[in-house]
Amino acid sequence: MPKEDVERYWNHVPWSIVPPSFQVDLCLFLAGIKPAIRTRVKHQNKIQPFLNNILDFGWHPVHDKSGFLVISKDKDLSQTIIQVDQSPPPHAIQLGCLLGYPECCSKFIEHIGEDGIDKVAEGYKRTDFKGLFSFIDISSYLEGIALISHVPCSTECQPSLNIALSVYSFVKENSAVKGYNVWASSVIDYFRK
Ligand SMILES: [Zn+2]
Repeated sequence: MPKEDVERYWNHVPWSIVPPSFQVDLCLFLAGIKPAIRTRVKHQNKIQPFLNNILDFGWHPVHDKSGFLVISKDKDLSQTIIQVDQSPPPHAIQLGCLLGYPECCSKFIEHIGEDGIDKVAEGYKRTDFKGLFSFIDISSYLEGIALISHVPCSTECQPSLNIALSVYSFVKENSAVKGYNVWASSVIDYFRK
């Protein structure tokens, strides 16, 4: 993706109405790794200008009453994700696949249940990820610092590491892009240590 596009997309996000983790999600989407983003908007009354921006980019937003927002480049995909998400569980494998998670991690989520996954996510500590696998550390995802946007099935998940490494390259390549550089440098700092 040209750097001008990264700059344009990044600087048209109303950051005050999305969670910090949206930075990670958007980065993976721009890097072409995630086919779709699912997030939750904080101030629904302020969503309209954001939806207009998304449409201007040629992307397709779909949101529901509880504030969930799905963005993809394909109208049917956005629609399908909202529908699958609202259908009774289990749907983790299907949803994970639609959101670009590795198959092993989607199966893992389905196995332990969607309530269990939050506990697993909270239980992962930075020091649990050894060596190169420190790149799949998601302990700061909610604060917006991570290179993957899903809960890895283990602290040594290879498909998750492959994603993290390509995202890290994307972050470094674009680390001088105006606006994006602020987030990029905090990510690079975090993963350098
Ligand atoms: Zn996995």
